[in-house]
Amino acid sequence: MENKKIVVGNMKMNLTASEIDNYIKEIDKYDYNEQVVFCPSYIYLPSFVGKGYRCGAQNIASYELGAYTGEVSARQVSSMKIDYTIIGHSERRNYFNETDEIIRTKITLALKENLKVILCIGETLEQRDALKTYEVLKRQLTSALKGLDKFQGIIIAYEPIWAIGTGKTPTNQDIEDTISFIKKIINDICGQELKVLYGGSVNDENITKLNTIKNVDGYLVGGACTSAERFNKIIEVVVNQ
Ligand code: PEP
Repeated sequence: MENKKIVVGNMKMNLTASEIDNYIKEIDKYDYNEQVVFCPSYIYLPSFVGKGYRCGAQNIASYELGAYTGEVSARQVSSMKIDYTIIGHSERRNYFNETDEIIRTKITLALKENLKVILCIGETLEQRDALKTYEVLKRQLTSALKGLDKFQGIIIAYEPIWAIGTGKTPTNQDIEDTISFIKKIINDICGQELKVLYGGSVNDENITKLNTIKNVDGYLVGGACTSAERFNKIIEVVVNQ
């Protein structure tokens, strides 16, 4: 597993109960291994976990436990045999005002419960156009990671915000350069190597080309993972190439 790429499907707030039933029937035809992680809405997680699939929550609360109506804690997620949680997705940063500080708190709570963390970072188009991508990524990484006493179990997902759900992707060379930069910053902060995934409009048509990038450790897939058939095509390329 150490050197194997991973593919994470972030299903966001998509699919109804019957659509999830059909989705699981479809993926049951294939033999997925530990390289594939499904992140459906909380309510559907038991259906995936019960079938033995590796799963992640899309978010966790920034509080440990107690009177926080509507929230789900890291401990509750972990107690459901869920291995991963996404933290700091740009949709959470933008629509739910998650600050670097909140993200750091969530990472600490997740690691305490032995959840693996998929930490999303990425720049907006304005930041990219202003040549501030590296500055933004360094700030996001530093505020999330600096001073943590444990790094094992943290995976970074580089997701340029302008590429999410838009059908646009950076060039392979851009992604490779940015991932090299991210890996260097991680090493400066914690002296360790962490996996770095790429996310942003990955689909069954562009995965073969994206998967030639040398330093990428896997992919975070949004829209294209909500179709079991398309997601399976992506997985086959990554696992077999
Ligand atoms: C995401 O939201 O994490 C994502 C990568 O979405 P999409 O694949 O739809 O761009």
